[in-house]
Amino acid sequence: MTAIKENFSLKKFNTFGVDVSCRYFAEIGSEQDIQNLIADDKYNRQQKFVLGGGSNILFTKNFDGIVLHDRFEGIGVVSVDEDYAFVKAGAGEAWHELVLYCLGKNFGGVENLSLIPGFVGAAPIQNIGAYGEELKNVFHSLTAIDLSTGEPKVFSADECRFGYRDSIFKREAKNKYIITDVTLRLNKKPVINTTYGAIEKELEHMNVTSPTIGDVSNAVIKIRSSKLPDPKVIGNCGSFFKNPTIPIEKYDRLQHVFPDLVAYPAQGNAMKLSAGWMIEKCGWKGKRNGNVGMHKDQALVLVNYGGATGRELLQHAAEVQKSVKESFGIIMEAEVNVL
Ligand SMILES: Cc1cc2nc3c(=O)[nH]c(=O)nc-3n(C[C@H](O)[C@H](O)[C@H](O)COP(=O)(O)OP(=O)(O)OC[C@H]3O[C@@H](n4cnc5c(N)ncnc54)[C@H](O)[C@@H]3O)c2cc1C
Repeated sequence: MTAIKENFSLKKFNTFGVDVSCRYFAEIGSEQDIQNLIADDKYNRQQKFVLGGGSNILFTKNFDGIVLHDRFEGIGVVSVDEDYAFVKAGAGEAWHELVLYCLGKNFGGVENLSLIPGFVGAAPIQNIGAYGEELKNVFHSLTAIDLSTGEPKVFSADECRFGYRDSIFKREAKNKYIITDVTLRLNKKPVINTTYGAIEKELEHMNVTSPTIGDVSNAVIKIRSSKLPDPKVIGNCGSFFKNPTIPIEKYDRLQHVFPDLVAYPAQGNAMKLSAGWMIEKCGWKGKRNGNVGMHKDQALVLVNYGGATGRELLQHAAEVQKSVKESFGIIMEAEVNVL
């Protein structure tokens, strides 16, 4: 039988460090664990929420239902062909462990995504991305179990409908499934991607002229460690907002008013605006408001200096969002899931 805890604290299970609890808490490591819950009327009636590493979730209140904590384990090669290796990982594995596994086998494609916190099962939810790469570029398929019927279903990349920090699991399929494993398609002849400026600079600094995927990973790790606040030291979930994407015509008008506007070309004749730059321009960078604020080095990172409630964090995010809208006419969307 699946062990279920009652009135369980989630403080250590979310990287904002918000002190909330849930009515029930269960670790799920097999399909049978899910079947047991569904067969038990008491638990099946409860609202369900899947929690991985808690590094992309803002709890604003206690959760009056059952939290299913992902524990699906295992990483292995499922097949190889001439060009690619297919690696499958349990949803409860740490994402960075999967990256290290691929590096160890010299399979390319995830090195730029080194050191992203959280579990493998959450990676498809927002199509994690960093340093010029996104999960969708290496994604092959995933298995998920329907939380109401217990039926497993395989999702292809197309079915996941990946977008910028987006997938079907943030839309129609939100909170309907528990992802149990993810399979990646990795390059046996790695192609190095150092297009993101900071990587080239870091490699130069490391005196590397012909980088391997290991070198790229090391460069990314160095950059991330120097730039991003460690949630063990200060509560945060990385970038709180997405970088807004706007049509090029709108960008041209805005750029006319703000000549130093920071933006990058995006797909489909659009531009991606730097949310961090706009937040900084509005004076929020490093400004503390009680227990919360936007980080002193990373304006896009909302932080809990200690003891903040989820509501305080959300209220601060709303104020930041409002002032960016007033100054730039741009509505920033939250990247972090709010519950
Ligand atoms: C310091 C820091 C830096 C970060 N940098 C980046 C970055 O560079 N790029 C980036 O993309 N993200 C980044 N993030 C955000 C975060 O690491 C990723 O979104 C990560 O994938 C979240 O994983 P998690 O296991 O912690 O998910 P959680 O926070 O536990 O869950 C996030 C969402 O996914 C759902 N979910 C989780 N697991 C499953 C599952 N098995 N089945 C179904 N639904 C599930 C949850 O219900 C929730 O809605 C950063 C976070 C921090 C704290």
